[in-house]
Amino acid sequence: MTDKAGAVIIGGGVNGLGTAYHLAKKGYTDVVILEKSYICSGASGRNGGGIRQQWSSSENIKLAMESTKMFEELSDELEEDLEFIQGGYLVLAFTDDELEQFKENVALQRKMGLDTEYVSPEEAKEMVPQLNISKVKAATFNQSDGTVYPFPVVHGYARVLRETGVEIREHTEVLDIETSGDEIASVRTSDGKIKTDTVVNAAGGWSSDIADMVGVELPNKPYRHEIMVTEPFARFLEPMIISFHHGIYFSQSKHGNIVGGIGNPDEKEGINQRSSLWFMRTMAKTLVDFIPQFRSVNMLRQWAGLYDTTPDAQPIIGPVPEVRRFYQLNGFSGHGFMVSPVVDKVTAELILGETPSMDIDRLSVERFEGMDLEQEYSVVG
Ligand SMILES: Cc1cc2nc3c(=O)[nH]c(=O)nc-3n(C[C@H](O)[C@H](O)[C@H](O)COP(=O)(O)OP(=O)(O)OC[C@H]3O[C@@H](n4cnc5c(N)ncnc54)[C@H](O)[C@@H]3O)c2cc1C
Repeated sequence: MTDKAGAVIIGGGVNGLGTAYHLAKKGYTDVVILEKSYICSGASGRNGGGIRQQWSSSENIKLAMESTKMFEELSDELEEDLEFIQGGYLVLAFTDDELEQFKENVALQRKMGLDTEYVSPEEAKEMVPQLNISKVKAATFNQSDGTVYPFPVVHGYARVLRETGVEIREHTEVLDIETSGDEIASVRTSDGKIKTDTVVNAAGGWSSDIADMVGVELPNKPYRHEIMVTEPFARFLEPMIISFHHGIYFSQSKHGNIVGGIGNPDEKEGINQRSSLWFMRTMAKTLVDFIPQFRSVNMLRQWAGLYDTTPDAQPIIGPVPEVRRFYQLNGFSGHGFMVSPVVDKVTAELILGETPSMDIDRLSVERFEGMDLEQEYSVVG
């Protein structure tokens, strides 16, 4: 085990491994990834695999559009079946306010080159005949959205990284980051110290704690989000269905299981990954309201993970003013998997001193100091 590295990445989720993967693609492998538990133990192994480009903020649309293109290539690149299905996302509006917001969303998405359609409740029912549209006011649909199975993505990165000699240290917790002036000197872990001048904070729901170690304050707050999977049955549901009004989303996996979650508006801030009875009841009831045939389907398992939430529901990417070469890659709220390809690539470029291939200035942590925030409205949870 090395005690010196060109870069230390904290977090063994999709973003930590994805960044190391993009560094390795450019021939840079002097990297150690530190994970306090096991790969995918954070949100990357607990999410719904949704890949959605239908956002209300231009930054999220831009990140998701570029990342979707990258996901289209990733199965071949990693030589893994990532179960990437582009069955579309059907976004349902239930209120007049949502109707107005959706019109703006579609206009912005189309202006940015995304082929989103505004569809009537009847057209939505044509796409999913089992859908209860009695209270649906309208919907939007984009065919190139879809779902991916998170585990082969992250473990695919891990395999390639191990083959190229990158060290991934599981069960190794970062306890402190030591600095000298405004430079990073080393990372102290539960298994010794690693000298480095470069650290990536990809610690998901724990990223504010990591930033605290060097006196950097992030606005991110962790919130529990719960999710479940049902027993499998014959595939009938092509698109992912989502309602921001109900805070629910669900899709059908390649193997036939329904995978979905619902946000609890009363959820308290904090690290809590326990399952609740509230979730099981509310999810079951709401799913049956959406598709009455689900009444005879059994839930197989429920679990919970953390959203690492920022005030504007957009991620924090890039360096901080206080400490040199301390890169943020966090604050992904409920959509850090779908935007991971491009933000990981850009973070690798920043580490190597290259000009980022995408402009990420508006995603800097400094935007929270007096800048007008572009609020993201299209969120669940
Ligand atoms: C229920 C749920 C559903 C979701 N659905 C979707 C979805 O459909 N689509 C989508 O795009 N996104 C979704 N998300 C969000 C997405 O999962 C996350 O944004 C994304 O996985 C974040 O990846 P990450 O690598 O940044 O963080 P994580 O995967 O959380 O990884 C961070 C890692 O850092 C480690 N760590 C923390 N502190 C330390 C330390 N001190 N030392 C060492 N290691 C440490 C943790 O153990 C963890 O493994 C969902 C999230 C949840 C919880």
